[in-house]
Amino acid sequence: MLKSALAVLLTFCAVHVALSQNAFGQNKVAPDKEASIKADLAGQIDGMKKQAQVMVDSVFSFGELGMQEFETSKYLTGVLEKEGFKIERGVAGIPTAWVASWGSGKPVISLGSDIDDIPQASQKPGVGWHDPMIEGAPGHGEGHNSGVPLNIVAAIAVKKIMEREHLKGTIRLWPGVAEEEVATKAYYVKAGLFKDVDVCLFTHVGANLGVGWGGNMNTNGLVSVEYLFKGESAHAAGAPWRGRSALDAVELMDVGWNFRREHLRLATRLHYVITNGGDQPNVVPPTASVWYYYREADYEHIMRLWEIGDNMAKAATLMTDTTYTSRLLGQAWPGHFNKAIAEAMYENIKKVGLPTWSDADQALAKGLQTELKVRVNGLPMKIMPLRAPRVATAGEDEGGFGAQNQPTGGGSDDIGDISWNVPTVVLSYPSNIPGGPGHNWANGVAMATPIAHKGVVAGAKVQALTMLDLLLHQEIIDKAWDYFNNVQTKETKYKTFIRDGDVPAIWLNKGIMEKYRPQMKTMYYDPSKYDTYLEQLGIKYPTVRAETK
Ligand SMILES: [Zn+2]
Repeated sequence: MLKSALAVLLTFCAVHVALSQNAFGQNKVAPDKEASIKADLAGQIDGMKKQAQVMVDSVFSFGELGMQEFETSKYLTGVLEKEGFKIERGVAGIPTAWVASWGSGKPVISLGSDIDDIPQASQKPGVGWHDPMIEGAPGHGEGHNSGVPLNIVAAIAVKKIMEREHLKGTIRLWPGVAEEEVATKAYYVKAGLFKDVDVCLFTHVGANLGVGWGGNMNTNGLVSVEYLFKGESAHAAGAPWRGRSALDAVELMDVGWNFRREHLRLATRLHYVITNGGDQPNVVPPTASVWYYYREADYEHIMRLWEIGDNMAKAATLMTDTTYTSRLLGQAWPGHFNKAIAEAMYENIKKVGLPTWSDADQALAKGLQTELKVRVNGLPMKIMPLRAPRVATAGEDEGGFGAQNQPTGGGSDDIGDISWNVPTVVLSYPSNIPGGPGHNWANGVAMATPIAHKGVVAGAKVQALTMLDLLLHQEIIDKAWDYFNNVQTKETKYKTFIRDGDVPAIWLNKGIMEKYRPQMKTMYYDPSKYDTYLEQLGIKYPTVRAETK
């Protein structure tokens, strides 16, 4: 009764009060009307649970590595196209990248999230121990299958409201391609994809609802550089003295860095894999290569690491009579996130709150935590506080006994580059289980289960409500740009790491996907036949070890 009365009232308002634009052409609406639109928006998203689940499960089943997200991008753009979004494919010279747009005029709200997965992280969803779907295959061991589905749910719901209420503005969605290689977002910036954007709402899977602003103690920027050495082959037993081993150069470079580690700042993270170690032992390797991630807390320190690395490579060639070239495979600025938008978003996080977890959800979480030998505390019951920034202290670069609050380093995301070009925040949403090591099968366990589905619905509500705030309150956008121009970029100016001649590393992971895709294809989720992916795989939810039940 009350509900139908509200519906009548809403229709009345839509027709007669007709939300419109003020003298400056900005969307305007009365406060009580705004509250009812917001309630309606959250209700609409609850009604899109099924759609969210189908998208999350589908992308999970595609399980594609960076630069090879062909099925994923075809599927997600297909969903958006059906909903009336205009798709531009292959943006920034990256085959799996795209931009989907709907609406017109200001504000331009940009929604992004990553789509690629992790090598060798194949894992049956809903199973609380290591149990790959396909041994050795890639899998969503970070949960990047859920972020774009979240943005799509939010975008569709907000688009409906905008149509009904005649609100102007533009919604744009895009995927973080090859985020695990931090390989594309700086190229998006370079291609001008954010030139006319007012605000970017990025989202990344986590184990709770949260948002923060400023920089952070525990994240870094990075450059990702591959060194390719060239020597001379020879019979490794018959005439080894005639050979010049490129692999020797790789190993000597690695030894150099491993000694240098003692003399690096706390914030430094430095790691490598040997991408070519030669062909077989009886042939002195004429070519060899090693791929480094150089991570640090700011642009200057990252550039310094890169310089040291180039010196290591050069020194290795002098020791081995070989030569080297290098190529930049990825880059990320350390992220800096917007205060005004984070504060607005956090109000919505408080309103939406955490999903209601079932006993089965908690049993899976606790089963996995027991298996991982980490704190067995299940899924979160309380949202995180608004994360405030790290405060830099004078003289921290020099370190020493007086230095407090030094950056301690950690992972990276190339959303950093975007955050230095347009006011940006990162919404964390609770689709994963706390306690996983990251980049691991364990972080895939929840990702096609009710935990992931509920987390996406909660996140989509926060995202959509924040979009509506931005559409209705130009003053938030003005405050965001004031922070961006007068605080964030007052002294620090963005300079890309990309050099002349560097190109997106679109060849990455091609061979691995070619090897596993035929087998993975047979396991793609078919929502026309099965309610959920768990049902298709015949997995009982939850599947945990007997003693943890
Ligand atoms: Zn990620």
